[in-house]
Amino acid sequence: MVRNHNLAKAISDAGWGMFTNFLAYKLEKKGGVLVEIDRWFPSSKLCSNCYDQVAKMPLDVRTWTCPRCGTHHDRDGNAATNIRAEGIRMLKTDGTSVSAVGGEVRPKAGRKSVLRHSLLSTETA
Ligand SMILES: [Zn+2]
Repeated sequence: MVRNHNLAKAISDAGWGMFTNFLAYKLEKKGGVLVEIDRWFPSSKLCSNCYDQVAKMPLDVRTWTCPRCGTHHDRDGNAATNIRAEGIRMLKTDGTSVSAVGGEVRPKAGRKSVLRHSLLSTETA
């Protein structure tokens, strides 16, 4: 599609940015808040039962069993549970988020977890 990798990434980022802006706008109209999870949050590798983190989780692994607690996970269901929990944690800390699980893998530049408020709610809160 786009041969220049940097350009493809920029287009992709712009599309995602527009999508999240629309989501934030729609949520604000309904009194909601959009919470964006850090792109490096290990949602798939983290056991949603005991919070143990496995070192590697290749993309072809669709189900796995936690080596610590023995819970059998569907990869996507487990990731969704972890993303929801991280979003709730961020809401409770009101935007002063830190990585819940170490975070030794950090990109030089990348999307960070973001808690978006409407201007109105941050000015009056
Ligand atoms: Zn576990």
